[in-house]
Amino acid sequence: MKKIAVLGSTGSIGKQTLEVIKKNKDIFKLELISANSNYKLLAQQANKFQPKVVILCDSSKIEKLNKLIKNPKIEILEGESSLNNFSKYCVLDTVVTALVGKSGLIPTINAIKNNIDIALANKETLVIAGRFILDLVKNNNSKILPVDSEHSAIFQCLNGEDDRDLEKIILTASGGPFRGKDLDYLNKVTVNEALNHPNWEMGEKITIDSSTLMNKGLEVIEAKFLFGVDIKNIDVIIHPESIIHSMVQFKDGSIIAQLGKPDMRLPIQYALGYPKRLSNYYKRYNFIDSSLNFEKPCYKTFNNLKLAFEAAEKEGNAPCILNAANEIVVSAFLREKIKFLDMTSIIED
Ligand code: NDP
Ligand code: MG
Repeated sequence: MKKIAVLGSTGSIGKQTLEVIKKNKDIFKLELISANSNYKLLAQQANKFQPKVVILCDSSKIEKLNKLIKNPKIEILEGESSLNNFSKYCVLDTVVTALVGKSGLIPTINAIKNNIDIALANKETLVIAGRFILDLVKNNNSKILPVDSEHSAIFQCLNGEDDRDLEKIILTASGGPFRGKDLDYLNKVTVNEALNHPNWEMGEKITIDSSTLMNKGLEVIEAKFLFGVDIKNIDVIIHPESIIHSMVQFKDGSIIAQLGKPDMRLPIQYALGYPKRLSNYYKRYNFIDSSLNFEKPCYKTFNNLKLAFEAAEKEGNAPCILNAANEIVVSAFLREKIKFLDMTSIIED
């Protein structure tokens, strides 16, 4: 049995991870879950999966959580420091980092230092501290297995290949809800329009990042660190159907791609089951009834992508600054404090 912790179990990736664990309960055991403030869903998950430990960051709701959890043997912890030190409360093989933004950083460091494998959804961790995290992984007995669909695709394409044969990575992007739109259009878009992603249902922060293409920018930085490639060897292409999740090109010109319906349960189960593939009954892609299209991204309209490439090239603390500025502007946009295009100009400043 693989013993698993899911940090951020009440979010989009967290809930889908619990589905995967439930479908494979003969091989996975959920030992620890955490949420920020959604105590009701956290209690439901605890009552259903009977983990050893439950962590709620928002201490003001802990009494309410205590009342809803029925099994007195479940240890209930509160506050950010419990989350940051999660590994000391039970024995674990793998942690799924389904936290959003910078909150994923310290728990990930804690996991690596305690030799726990990481199914990494929280890309911000690598953007903030990629070099540091990689060094830490090298000096400990922990692996990083990507959950982000593009990075899972690249990871699968590189299986059994010699890294030295890799010529470039081709990261695909859906283009988000504003693909093909111009700056005049973007100037007027609302929060609700930006939250309406064409292919994926995700948490609010990553959905806004997808609408500004910052998500792709963060993924470029994530790919640079995960696969050790030079930034000039990473291309981004728009592929509106989100069927090809990414590709790698080798020195002989061969390209290998990973395809499938857009469904995050697939990369999640690949990371949890690795190196084994697990069977499932999710919808299959059918080549006959559909077509695959590709476009060049417009770096002028989607300035965030340009900024992310620049930060990745500069490295040092540039990606960390980019990420911090982005977290702040996305939160301000969601609260309708600034307009859509203000986000990128504030980050650039
Ligand atoms: P959600 O917003 O749906 O979920 C975030 C989870 O983290 C929730 O459980 C939330 O708790 C918890 N959380 C949020 N803020 C904090 C905090 N400050 N401290 C502790 N816990 C916190 O996000 P997603 O699932 O969409 O995304 C999670 C990560 O995965 C992100 O880094 C994202 O970029 C990445 N990712 C997501 C994909 C997707 O399809 N959703 C695809 C690829 C990558 P609560 O519910 O109580 O607020
Ligand atoms: Mg992605």
